[in-house]
Amino acid sequence: YKDTGTLLFLDNVTVSFDGFKALNGLSLDVQAGEMRAIIGPNGAGKTTMMDVITGKTRPDSGRVTFHLTDLTRYDEAAIATMGIGRKFQKPTVFESHTVWDNLELALKSRRGPLTSLFWRLSAADRDRIADTIARIGLEAHHRRIAGALSHGQKQWLEIGMLLMQEPELLLVDEPVAGMTDSETEKTALLLRDIARSHSVVVVEHDMNFVRSLGVRVTVLHEGSVLSEGSLETVQNDPRVIEVYLGR
Ligand code: ADP
Repeated sequence: YKDTGTLLFLDNVTVSFDGFKALNGLSLDVQAGEMRAIIGPNGAGKTTMMDVITGKTRPDSGRVTFHLTDLTRYDEAAIATMGIGRKFQKPTVFESHTVWDNLELALKSRRGPLTSLFWRLSAADRDRIADTIARIGLEAHHRRIAGALSHGQKQWLEIGMLLMQEPELLLVDEPVAGMTDSETEKTALLLRDIARSHSVVVVEHDMNFVRSLGVRVTVLHEGSVLSEGSLETVQNDPRVIEVYLGR
């Protein structure tokens, strides 16, 4: 946790669906270089929060700023090009392409759909792909088609594809859902490695995984922040205990 200034700031954000407030005055800030874990019961507003940051959902009130830019004025495509990358829970790799080709496609898609038809990889591009394959631990699998990978390997591949787009902030939704224990451990190491050079917001239910990340935790409940601090601090917060045990 490096306190180098606020990167992302949600200021009193409210989102209503037919009068129901999925986010209800949510305020949250993420520092540049920080990895933050977001937890909270089902329906707490975690997905809606990610949707608001990425421009998929427009807030009814409040502001979302990235650096000093008000994101609520931009659409999803514009926000992605500003350096915010999102990984959804389910892996969405190109199953019939190899690991290498998936990363190459991700790199090319950054430069637009037409470029990808004509553009050839430079040596530096190939190095970047190779480095990313090493980083996500798939060196032995770079020629395999993605459809033949395990669930965990597909998730790492998709994280690699996200890295090819050079985001400054990664939003990662339940990365270890459905993973084996050893895949979960590797994912914690991978995210900690990524967090050395990126800011990361990770939504996760698996408390052992959150513990292994060792980062600041924000607990959402009914669309706003219930508690914030180390995992130990929030787990001992009476309001958090009541919400999790009182259901
Ligand atoms: P979480 O990701 O923490 O489980 P969500 O952000 O998905 O929570 O949902 C928060 C609340 O908003 C839930 O009660 C959900 O039913 C409601 N909600 C989310 N999206 C919509 C929508 N598009 N229309 C109506 N209600 C929604």
